[in-house]
Amino acid sequence: MERVVIVGAGQAGHACARALRAEGFAGEVLLLGAEPDPPYERPPLSKEVLLEEALPDLPGRLPPIEPGVSWRGGVEVVALDRAGRRVHTRHGETIGYDALVLATGGRAARPPVPGAEDPRLPVLRDIADARRLRAGLRGGWRHLAILGGGFIGLEVAAAARLLGVEATVIEAADRLCARALPPALSEWLRATHEASGVRVLLSARAALLAPDGVTLADGTRIAADAVLVATGLKPNDELAREAGLPCAAAGGILADAAGRTEDPAVFAIGDAVALRREGLPPIRLESWAQANAMGAAAARAILGLPDTPPPLPWFWSTQGKTLIQMAGLPDGATATVTRGDPASGSFLMFLMAGDRIAQAIAVNNSREFQLARRLVERGIAVPASALADPGFALKAALR
Ligand SMILES: Cc1cc2nc3c(=O)[nH]c(=O)nc-3n(C[C@H](O)[C@H](O)[C@H](O)COP(=O)(O)OP(=O)(O)OC[C@H]3O[C@@H](n4cnc5c(N)ncnc54)[C@H](O)[C@@H]3O)c2cc1C
Repeated sequence: MERVVIVGAGQAGHACARALRAEGFAGEVLLLGAEPDPPYERPPLSKEVLLEEALPDLPGRLPPIEPGVSWRGGVEVVALDRAGRRVHTRHGETIGYDALVLATGGRAARPPVPGAEDPRLPVLRDIADARRLRAGLRGGWRHLAILGGGFIGLEVAAAARLLGVEATVIEAADRLCARALPPALSEWLRATHEASGVRVLLSARAALLAPDGVTLADGTRIAADAVLVATGLKPNDELAREAGLPCAAAGGILADAAGRTEDPAVFAIGDAVALRREGLPPIRLESWAQANAMGAAAARAILGLPDTPPPLPWFWSTQGKTLIQMAGLPDGATATVTRGDPASGSFLMFLMAGDRIAQAIAVNNSREFQLARRLVERGIAVPASALADPGFALKAALR
């Protein structure tokens, strides 16, 4: 093993390069990124980058990796030749590898609605998108329409309100964050965003998108200074697909928790992946923690080190003054237990599979989230009645 080539210099690619060095790999690590900027983290793009008065040149910049990981920006890989163990770049360069890591992330999905492909409609995926949004929100927009009531759409809506800009969220489903949150929490979020002045339209079908507004299927027109398309992520799995590597029907390169694909020399990590799971359909875990965990696990697999157990998936979202933290996955959950009074603004929800906590979700309660996360991680059974009782110390169940 002399050269590891990592395609994509984002969160996962950087984590993999860092772990290769940390695990003692002394060979060449080439980190190729299509973006001109050095590796940086994306979570601040919908939060601090919009809200902070003064910003560094590249917010969330990740540190260079020593010794000598070669990062090259502005290098887009356009084809993968698995038989020849090499990749081809847009500029006509051919680069050979002993192991290849596809860490290509994803791009903002644009829905099949007339007008959605218009590049004048902003999306939020990279630093250039965030700078554009920041400039608009701070530079004269009075009303931002946001297509999509998922985490990124809601983070931007909250930021817009904090900056004094009107925000309308247009969501096709009948509740917010429908894929990720239980109905009661969707409802709490709706009320919370509405209380801070966000207009939330549910079961609202966009029929036509334009840079100056949205027309709904029922004919309602929402005029706006800009329309942000925040309708999810499309994994960048084309390199793998075209090279004949299996991908999920719904998108994403099929790989295990250590990034192994069908080709022993090719690994895939981060947002580009649909994770294979024993007895369950593949899942895309588009999160900062998953990108880091897969990057580290793939480095070990490349070096032939034994797998370590995959860490528990976890995620957070900051929406104005609301911090949501989640640990575990809701698979198999049949009941939801609430701990604390949602009206107080600080509470937890437990998604229960029998006595087992499948997933813990905390709203504005980091302290109990850390305890709940350990309960999920260790698979500790706690009766629903105890979890629902704020007088019962979660710490006691950990002993
Ligand atoms: C606005 C925003 C806010 C977020 N907030 C949170 C949060 O609060 N909490 C949380 O847990 N997660 C959050 N996330 C998700 C998290 O940032 C991602 O899960 C993570 O960045 C995924 O890492 P990745 O390396 O797989 O993909 P990315 O970070 O997207 O990196 C992929 C890189 O690959 C490059 N690339 C793609 N194709 C090629 C190619 N062919 N050749 C060369 N380079 C290529 C891309 O240009 C990109 O730089 C947020 C994401 C966004 C966009």
